[in-house]
Amino acid sequence: MKNLLKDFSEEDLKIFKGEFNDFLPEKIMDFHVHLWKRDFLDKEVSEERQRVNPFADPDIIDGFSFEEFKVVAERLFPGKKYKGLFFGLPAKEVNLAKANRYISDICKENNCYGLYIPEPDLKEIPESFFENRFVGFKPYPDLVGYNTPEDFSKLDIDVSIFDFVSKKVLEFSNEYGLILLLHIPRKGRLNDRRNIEEIRSIAKSYPDIKIVLAHAGRSYCYSDIKESIGYLKDIENLYVDTAMINSFSVNKVLLEELGPERVLYGSDLAVAALKGKNIDINNKHYFVTSTPRPWSLSSDVMNLDSFTYFIYEIIRAIRIAVKSLGMGREDIRNIFYLNTRKLIKNITNNH
Ligand SMILES: [Zn+2]
Repeated sequence: MKNLLKDFSEEDLKIFKGEFNDFLPEKIMDFHVHLWKRDFLDKEVSEERQRVNPFADPDIIDGFSFEEFKVVAERLFPGKKYKGLFFGLPAKEVNLAKANRYISDICKENNCYGLYIPEPDLKEIPESFFENRFVGFKPYPDLVGYNTPEDFSKLDIDVSIFDFVSKKVLEFSNEYGLILLLHIPRKGRLNDRRNIEEIRSIAKSYPDIKIVLAHAGRSYCYSDIKESIGYLKDIENLYVDTAMINSFSVNKVLLEELGPERVLYGSDLAVAALKGKNIDINNKHYFVTSTPRPWSLSSDVMNLDSFTYFIYEIIRAIRIAVKSLGMGREDIRNIFYLNTRKLIKNITNNH
């Protein structure tokens, strides 16, 4: 990542000390961290894709190594023990074999765990899956070979979850009770009934899989989640991560409906190490950033120096929701640490 935390200021440190130091537990486990290196990309990311995908931004695409993760953790969370669950960058330009190997190497060296990014049609589970410290999968709709223009994001087109999560992945995950971190497809997100039906059908046919909805089902807006959560909350093994959610009202719904045991703090680093905020305007999600980027709302004339990092806005939105619901230390510890630790322990204890 270029210019990593170059914009860190006294004001940011004040936010940490004033809002987070006492609120956050001693140990933090970030459920959603991407690590990769530039040379894992087999081809250049097209300009079209750079314009729409924050991870393809020229400031980010150069990579986010484990060393950089440690710099961010130490700088933004001084005094805390900040750990992560790691996976590569799921983009069609990335060589997945290299991406997965890097995660495995880092996890073996540093006593942590990762998720494996599978090809959409994965038929054989890679050798030494558990020895390589994988505890589940992070499939991604963008990897589907679909008959669309090169520059088109698959997130908003009609891809079924079963187009990018193979039967083998589901069977193996069920057999060992693994984590399946799902980035749901389709424009309607959780308001598309087909997504709900597919999630329910996975839960029914494979009851031992721990299904985690990334970004709480891409619910950056209250309207994405307020009704749809009602169709999912009875699924026992269903969890959500908070990656890039900056909305207090989304978090409040999640905590009320799922309870603090099924909400996992996650950031989506490296993009969360930029300064900005996700906002909800007329039920649509927009990125806002302190410096102008083609994928965000911003300004090159207004002075936006007073912004802080997305990752702080994620935590701030959780804090306000937790406080408004009168939740206590134990709930906070669950969200930021214990829930993820328990999920991982549950898997590693069995192998
Ligand atoms: Zn992510």
